Amino acid sequence: VIRLSGVAKDFGSTRALNGVELVVERGEVVVLLGLSGSGKSTLLRHLDGLELPTAGTVEVLGQDIPGLAPRELRRFRGRVAMIFQQFELVPSLTVLENVLTGALSRLRGPRLGLWAYPKALKIAALTHLDRVGLLEKAYQRADQLSGGQQQRVAIARALMQRPEILLADEPVASLDPESSEQVMRLIREIAADHGLTVVCSLHQVDLALGWGDRIVGLRHGQVVLDTPTAGLSKERAMEIYGRVSTSTA
Ligand code: ATP
Ligand code: MG
Repeated sequence: VIRLSGVAKDFGSTRALNGVELVVERGEVVVLLGLSGSGKSTLLRHLDGLELPTAGTVEVLGQDIPGLAPRELRRFRGRVAMIFQQFELVPSLTVLENVLTGALSRLRGPRLGLWAYPKALKIAALTHLDRVGLLEKAYQRADQLSGGQQQRVAIARALMQRPEILLADEPVASLDPESSEQVMRLIREIAADHGLTVVCSLHQVDLALGWGDRIVGLRHGQVVLDTPTAGLSKERAMEIYGRVSTSTA
C-alpha cells in the first residue's frame, strides 16, 4: 500500500531525505528507527501528503500523492491517521469530544459540542474509548489525563477516522517506560484488530526490537537497514546510529 521510490526532500540547503526506497504491504507493522534529524518525521509526513517530495515518487493506497488535486488530497488524508509525540489533543475539551473530532474528516462542516455529532458516532467513540481502557474518563477534560492516557485517547481518535493506515511519530517519546510499553502494545493489538498498516517512528532500539514485523533504519535521510524484526540482533540494529552516536540511543 506504500511505495516510495527515489524520494528526496530538500528544505533550503538541507537534504532531509535522500533517495528513499520503501515498500510497505497492507497489514504490515513497520518501525522507522533513527536518530534525531535522520528524517523520520519528514518521511512520515510524505506518507499522508503533508509534505511533497523534491524528487521521486510517493504512492500510497494506490494514489500518486504529488499528483493529487487539493480535494483528492483531502479525501486521501482521511484514510490515513497520525498520532504524535505530544498527543495533540484539545486540552479544554472532554476526552469524548476529542475522540469525536477524529470523525470530522468524514463529516461536512464543523461540529461544536457533543450534541452536534450523530448518535452512532458517539457510540463508536465510546466503544473506542472502552477499547483503549478509558471509558470512565470520557467526560473528563483531556488535560487532566496522564501522558499515557492522553496517547491512548489519541489512538481512539485516530480510529474514529476508520483509517487504512496508521502513522505514529515517536508516540512514546514523552512517556515513562511502563506507559510506553502499554501504548506500543495497544498500537500493535489495534492494528491487528482493524487490519491496519502501521508505520511508527522510534528512536529506541530496545522498544523496536520486540515490536513490529519489520525495521527500517534511517540515517541522514537514507534507508540504511530494512529487515524483518525477528532475528535482528541489537548490535545490527545499533549500526544505523553509526559509531559516534550510540550513547544517545
Ligand atoms: P527527531 O527524532 O528529532 O524528531 P527526525 O528523524 O524526525 O528527528 P526530521 O524532523 O525528519 O528528523 O528532520 C530531518 C532533517 O530535516 C533535519 O535536518 C531537520 O532540521 C530538517 N527539517 C525537517 N523539517 C524541516 C522544515 N520544515 N524546514 C527546514 N528543515 C527541516
Ligand atoms: Mg521527528
